[in-house]
Amino acid sequence: MIKFTTQLVNWYRINARDLPWRNTRNPYHIWVSEIIFQQTRIDQGFNYYLRFIDRFPAVDQLANAEEQDVLRIWQGLGYYSRARNLHAAAKQVVHELGGVFPNTYDQIIRLKGVGSYTAAAVASIAFGERKVVVDGNVLRFISRYGGITDPIDTKQGKELVENLAFSLSEGAEPGVFNQALMEFGALYCVPRNPDCPNCIFKTGCKAFAMNATKEIPLKSKRITVRKRFFNYLFLYRVDQNNQTEYLMQRRGRGDIWQGLYEFPMIESNSLLSPDSLTATLLWQQDILPHQPVLSSRHLDFVHQLTHQQLHTRFFIVRLHEMAADKIRAEWIRVPEASMHQYPVSRLIHKFLNSLQDK
Ligand code: SF4
Repeated sequence: MIKFTTQLVNWYRINARDLPWRNTRNPYHIWVSEIIFQQTRIDQGFNYYLRFIDRFPAVDQLANAEEQDVLRIWQGLGYYSRARNLHAAAKQVVHELGGVFPNTYDQIIRLKGVGSYTAAAVASIAFGERKVVVDGNVLRFISRYGGITDPIDTKQGKELVENLAFSLSEGAEPGVFNQALMEFGALYCVPRNPDCPNCIFKTGCKAFAMNATKEIPLKSKRITVRKRFFNYLFLYRVDQNNQTEYLMQRRGRGDIWQGLYEFPMIESNSLLSPDSLTATLLWQQDILPHQPVLSSRHLDFVHQLTHQQLHTRFFIVRLHEMAADKIRAEWIRVPEASMHQYPVSRLIHKFLNSLQDK
């Protein structure tokens, strides 16, 4: 019988997608790719990876960048804590490790934002350390192959998958084996309707033998999604030279989109009507002094995040005044020409685009 590793690696050599981070052993580039593709599909993140590496080709360039520039490159990718952690970890490498990227799993995992998955990926791919990488694709493929019926979102289920993958990796080149495992899960042992009758592993696959590929992998928890209601105020003023400026604010700590910019916002228990908006304290105290004209049209979007569903409404308000001494301390004036310098969430980006389209 041909060994599992030989079959897998042969399959990988023929079928692997040619991706830039696979043609390097530069640990910094591999690390960046692993962080980007943790929660992002390859087609969505591909250009982000290229732009990120182009803008910050080495770890010291990332360490010396402004956070705003890092977030700006990340804009639209979501899960922004990944970008902030990359930035913080790059500073760790430069300031605490003399600019040399750590070369073992035990050292890599000490970097900010690096968990066991990323540490194993970088240590195995860049430095050949024998560590298995268990992402969602590996969990699915190996739990099916091994007929593992413990839920994969439990510690025990994950450990069973990890142990089996580790024993299967015997004798293989660690980095190639891990990438092949992830690639097979991503391209062949797919979530729905994998082509089992033609699969190279069908004789050893327990889920196929048990006719259980629909049931495995098992999960114990369902994600609970929280509904939130955001009412944005798109406040703008056009001056006598026909220049437009907006009022924006930076999101603080402890919530989604930390460090990104957006328009002033009121969170409520349901979306506000124009009448209920103009009755709010914010309107009365902070907007009325600028002589606002509330447009009769507003734009609504539902924006889905993993754990939150955002129901959002954008009120369009033209201001005839924007006196500096009457602007709330946390609001900033942003000339239209400078808007592109401010990192914003995908929601704000979507709103601005649809405003342009109309
Ligand atoms: S036989 Fe089906 S379930 Fe088993 S490894 Fe192959 S594709 Fe996955």
